[in-house]
Amino acid sequence: MKRKISFIGIVSLLALFLLLFLGKETFLAKKTYELETEIKETTTTVQSITKVKTKDKKLNQEIDNHLQKEQKEFEDYTKNTTSLYLLEKEELNIDTILFETDSFLSISMVTYMNGPSFAVPTNKIETILWNRKKKKRSELGDFLKDDEILPKLQEELYLLFQKSCPNCLNKNTLKKNIEKNSTNFYLTEEGFVFTVNPSLLQEDYHDILTVPLAKENPYLNYPKEQKEEQKEEKKTVKKAKTIDPSLPSIALTFDDGPSQYTEEIIKILEENEVNATFFILGNKVATYKNTLKQSIENGNELGNHSYNHQWLSRLSTTELEKQINKTQEIIQEELDYTPTLLRPTYGSVNRRIKKNCDLTITLWTVDTKDWKIKNTSRIVERATTNISDLDIILMHDIFERSKNALKEIIPNLKEQGFQLVTVSELEEIKKIREYEKR
Ligand code: ZN
Repeated sequence: MKRKISFIGIVSLLALFLLLFLGKETFLAKKTYELETEIKETTTTVQSITKVKTKDKKLNQEIDNHLQKEQKEFEDYTKNTTSLYLLEKEELNIDTILFETDSFLSISMVTYMNGPSFAVPTNKIETILWNRKKKKRSELGDFLKDDEILPKLQEELYLLFQKSCPNCLNKNTLKKNIEKNSTNFYLTEEGFVFTVNPSLLQEDYHDILTVPLAKENPYLNYPKEQKEEQKEEKKTVKKAKTIDPSLPSIALTFDDGPSQYTEEIIKILEENEVNATFFILGNKVATYKNTLKQSIENGNELGNHSYNHQWLSRLSTTELEKQINKTQEIIQEELDYTPTLLRPTYGSVNRRIKKNCDLTITLWTVDTKDWKIKNTSRIVERATTNISDLDIILMHDIFERSKNALKEIIPNLKEQGFQLVTVSELEEIKKIREYEKR
């Protein structure tokens, strides 16, 4: 009898180990990259770059080389600019389109430049389709079903491009761009997408042209295996929190995330039993889906901060609506959540934004300048000195130093008697107080 029990004991111990081991495996396989957003502002320029950082040094180097080349081109092109008006600043925006399978990481970097030095906005796309096993870039030849089929693929793509934009593209130019060593295509869940940069198009066309080619097609093999859907994390039931409208209240806000630091920031908020508001970028929602879900469950608020940090007050109405709506849609789709707040990029608001946006525009009253100040204790100081009731404090969840500062900021503010709430809760508090005054 005794022996039997210990046998069962060993078996269940093994099972437990197996479970733990498997659990760890899925966790490790969850994400192979981070998304980083770098925002730079000078007296004459603004730059916003969303880039992928992977665990592969060689790939990171390839990405950095391209981004540095783009930045240098922008800086050379705009170095003589003297414009002093805020809305006349030169702008560089680089966004990343990502797709991952077991053996490939498809990274497309989309550059947009605009400002007084540019006659028209400049658009460009560059793709690195990384073979993770071979640790090198893939070319069109790696996907061709056989070598003889290339001319047929060129013909098909020419027809597709012709259909999407008649007379934009010369046939010979396109053919030269669809060769075995071409890299101007990326992967999506549905198949391939071929791209042509405006520099190859007829004079009057300034947008990047794209045409899709389905997974099942006569020319190219689509990589079979695909990343498993990320497992949903366990839901925990949070106890309802109580807000006292009579207490001095402030809202902590974080811009430009989510990032690799957001998960820990959410934990710090939870440990301190407070909530904050995160103004997020649409292009990072899918990558940090689980972190954001946890954030919502914990009672934090999510606001819209555009899709890829383009300078909203410069955009046309159509482009502006695209930046806002695309972000609303992806948050709705991925997180089943509807933001009600908009924080315009670079804190810059104009009539067009006010007129075309149903969201509540939210700026801030205290700027920690954590994007510029590299010293944690100085960030703490800025976030905790001369703070008054109803202040909205601006921070960024894309820096480790901001995360570290937060650990001191919250206890300090609580010590001063402040209640830390979300922006919408702060608005609610104002309304209640108004009502009570009557
Ligand atoms: Zn921002």
